[in-house]
Amino acid sequence: MKAAAANLRLPAVHALLDDPACAPLLAQYGREQTVDALRALLNDVRARLLAAAGPAVDAAADAVADAAPPDTTAAGLLALLGERLRAANVSRLRPVYNLTGTVLHTNLGRALLPDEAVNAVVEALRWPMNLEWDIETGTRGDRDNLVEQQLRELTGAEAVTIVNNNAAAVLLMLNALASGGEVIVSRGELVEIGGAFRIPDIMARAGATLREVGTTNRTHFKDYAEAAGEKTALMMKVHTSNYAITGFTKEVTTAELAPLGRERGIPVAVDLGSGTLVDLERWGLPHETTVRETIAAGADLVTFSGDKLLGGPQCGIIAGRADLIAKIKKNPLKRALRVSKLTLAALEPVLNLYRAPDLLAERLTTLRLLTRPAASMQALADSLAEPLQAALGASYAVTVAPMLSQIGSGALPVASLPSFGLAIRAAGAKASGNKGSNPLGALERRLRALPCPVIGRIADDTLWLDLRCLEQDRRDEFAAQLAQLAPQLQERPAA
Ligand SMILES: *Cc1c(COP(=O)(O)O)cnc(C)c1O
Repeated sequence: MKAAAANLRLPAVHALLDDPACAPLLAQYGREQTVDALRALLNDVRARLLAAAGPAVDAAADAVADAAPPDTTAAGLLALLGERLRAANVSRLRPVYNLTGTVLHTNLGRALLPDEAVNAVVEALRWPMNLEWDIETGTRGDRDNLVEQQLRELTGAEAVTIVNNNAAAVLLMLNALASGGEVIVSRGELVEIGGAFRIPDIMARAGATLREVGTTNRTHFKDYAEAAGEKTALMMKVHTSNYAITGFTKEVTTAELAPLGRERGIPVAVDLGSGTLVDLERWGLPHETTVRETIAAGADLVTFSGDKLLGGPQCGIIAGRADLIAKIKKNPLKRALRVSKLTLAALEPVLNLYRAPDLLAERLTTLRLLTRPAASMQALADSLAEPLQAALGASYAVTVAPMLSQIGSGALPVASLPSFGLAIRAAGAKASGNKGSNPLGALERRLRALPCPVIGRIADDTLWLDLRCLEQDRRDEFAAQLAQLAPQLQERPAA
């Protein structure tokens, strides 16, 4: 436990900064950052040397002292400094492989955008844009106008406005139209969306009073009719995005509710959540109510997300009656919740793809992934099973297996799509009876530790890698990094 006192004499900060090996670090990271990191490094090294030299005071110090002694030469210290600076400057937001089987995965950023949108965003980042400036008249414009015509055609709505996300759309709509008044909602539709979006809470924040009607499983027309009165500012339907009420149920449809709204002069709003712009049945997917159908059924306003089934950037769209949209746009919250030029740059080319519906399943990434033929995923799985098995070695068994994907983000919560992928099980896990070890958990961590982390799903003693979202053009990249699994996978003895 004794270290020579000389070890504590480290090179001086100025000497290290003047060392030629430090020049590239200074050039890349700047003087202040480099000096701060160097001071912190020298403090840490000094603490380690002291701990190694002095009597062990506690277990933590012991552990530090047991580690290999740091290289205290100038070259060694500058190498450590370079590592620290690189690590500190790595982006925390990183690409991953989404092999969870959930196509619109909220935690992994939902819709992936087509190249047309990507290129438009890059241009918008580099150039001034006519975001709120009318090129024809040379006067101030309105950013919503850039996509309004397109959205009107796609939805049949008279007018639209765009905000940061659908939660913002609902908040803004409620505040603009129902602050100080009552909003009638069925008890079967008091939704909580992940990440603390709850209809009763949003209602309170918007300054509106929730008037619940009906029961969890059954709400009738007369429930709405009896509740609608002087104080009613809005009647609202909410898509039950992440659950299904089945069995003895009754729901009042938008088409049934709309005449009541017109008769009493109360707007009817529908929060569609995912809100697809096209009939998914065309591609053999289950039907999800479209925005156009909802407007045609008589909804005065519809709110929906840009990054769910629409396949665009994160945003919230409010579409509907021109007089109501005008009122919403005058609300000060609209200014607080508005979208950036990046969002609009990405949204417009995505909406343009809808002009060619026959080519949409090829061009719109989300739809391409959702409609991917099982044979293509099976062929991909076949080509990857062997390299993966080779990388994992005999402790795991890899098989090509059918599995079920989900759309995700609240679209069609009970529908699943037949898919193909790789199923990994621990070889002989049962036979060995090794209680303490968790080979699947260890494998899941190793996959996450890859340069481009691979995210799968564990269920039924199996790690499932659903290949729906691994497109053919990324196959080789994916296969190439599998080799890096091999040396790291040496299993530690069970604790
Ligand atoms: C997803 C969803 C929301 C929230 O939309 P974000 O775009 O995530 O803010 C609100 N309402 C419903 C019904 C939804 O499905």
